Amino acid sequence: MAITAYDVVIIGAGISGAITAYNLAKYNTKVAVLEAGIDVASGSTRANSAIVHAGYDAKEGTLKAQLNVRGCALMEELTSTLGVHYSRCGSLVIGFTESDLEHLKLLKARGEANGVPDLEIIDEQRLHELEPRVSKNAKYALLAPSAGIVCPYDLAYALCENAATNGVKFYFEFKVSKIDYDGEYYTVSCGKKKVKAKYVVNAAGLFVDEIAGMVGEKLPFDIIPRRGEYMLLDKAEIGTASHTLFVTPSEKGKGILISPTVDGNVIVGPNANVVESKVDTSVTEEGLEEIAEGAKVIVDDIKLDATITTFAGVRATPTSGDFYIQESEKFKNFIHVAGIESPGLASAPAIGEYVLDILKKCGLTLLEKSEYISTRTKNGNCKLFYEMTEEERINAISNDPRYAKVICRCEMVTEGDVINALRRPIPAKTIDMVKRRTRAGMGRCQGNYCRSKIAELIAEEFDIPLSEVKKFTSNSNILYGKTK
Ligand SMILES: Cc1cc2nc3c(=O)[nH]c(=O)nc-3n(C[C@H](O)[C@H](O)[C@H](O)COP(=O)(O)OP(=O)(O)OC[C@H]3O[C@@H](n4cnc5c(N)ncnc54)[C@H](O)[C@@H]3O)c2cc1C
Repeated sequence: MAITAYDVVIIGAGISGAITAYNLAKYNTKVAVLEAGIDVASGSTRANSAIVHAGYDAKEGTLKAQLNVRGCALMEELTSTLGVHYSRCGSLVIGFTESDLEHLKLLKARGEANGVPDLEIIDEQRLHELEPRVSKNAKYALLAPSAGIVCPYDLAYALCENAATNGVKFYFEFKVSKIDYDGEYYTVSCGKKKVKAKYVVNAAGLFVDEIAGMVGEKLPFDIIPRRGEYMLLDKAEIGTASHTLFVTPSEKGKGILISPTVDGNVIVGPNANVVESKVDTSVTEEGLEEIAEGAKVIVDDIKLDATITTFAGVRATPTSGDFYIQESEKFKNFIHVAGIESPGLASAPAIGEYVLDILKKCGLTLLEKSEYISTRTKNGNCKLFYEMTEEERINAISNDPRYAKVICRCEMVTEGDVINALRRPIPAKTIDMVKRRTRAGMGRCQGNYCRSKIAELIAEEFDIPLSEVKKFTSNSNILYGKTK
């Protein structure tokens, strides 16, 4: 059978692969994205703190510092073009002691050297005016007004939906296991499934080293999996913080943060523990205790009993400490986007530009598409009912009465929203895919009310038996047969 040939294949549909696909989709280039998971954002992009860091953390002169500051500056325009929730809520790094204050001054100086705008060290009075719930022991803070928050997987979906609308081909459950090179084309295989391309972008997150190994290359650093666990608090607790609150970093890292989320919850975490497995996203009792302890240092009366869910993500920490984005030293037109730990999300818009530049330098011809669609979907329709204005709601219901049927009462998600998610350019095919696209199941009851109805809608839409509906991955059945 003939193997489909592309100009570029991107391995991995995390935020790095998604932004690369989005940028390439503007040109007359034949592009495919190969993703091991069943959905976009199956790796670190799915579970992280969701902070658009301002850029004072990374050492001066590093690629991380450069791309973080640029990515943060580009985020507002990108998210507004694609209709993705983003808030420039600002961040505060809180200090309790004189020695913390000295550290905050260093962070400010580093941030300024990196090009972070408007950094300011504020005193306890201003801090408590801005954040009344912060511990009375807090004396100083570094205020970074340019920092923000974004939903990481929503941004990745939007980028990929736009790319798919503009002709990029997505292959899911395509876990690359072999790569051959004939001097012109790379043939990239997942068992018997194969595609070929002149250019390959290795954006496989925690697995970039394994992908490099498939062409016989050893990256000049190791990837260490470091898990971060979280608690997510009910929306009733949104008054806990209006900025992202960090403590002064120690040699162990940035420490536990408390932040509002774009959806109105409060996120608390993460810790940072090296784990053996790159896919170990388990949540532990000790981990949650560590987070609770860290959070109470910032807000001593934080209501952790309002936790509605816990989760964990794994960082792809490079032993070199910096992002590594460059053409392979051994193989022509093979580009590594590696070591993308935090602030990879914040840096994403700039990572996209950087990768595009490398591809151009490698010789990829990029001619702008005349029929390019700049919105998320062809008709631009991705607004959820709860986001609509009164007038938009009336229109939505008169066009499709399913918008009048609320399926998820916690998050006010309608049947119309779910159907729309099942029919988007990258269709939601499982309960969790619907959940992440619509928020159905993300509220206080965590899906107990809406899950069965959503399963029915999926079964109906894809014409499959209910017992074939999955929670997330292809082996996560939720029903096994009839009891009566
Ligand atoms: C706990 C934690 C907190 C963080 N907090 C922040 C934050 O607040 N702000 C911030 O800017 N950054 C943060 N980050 C970092 C950020 O999440 C990452 O930098 C970013 O998500 C990396 O994206 P990526 O696309 O490079 O990798 P990933 O998101 O991991 O994507 C890689 C993709 O490649 C796929 N893949 C892997 N192997 C194969 C294969 N063989 N074949 C095909 N596909 C494959 C995976 O399934 C995955 O979907 C945090 C990360 C963690 C874990």
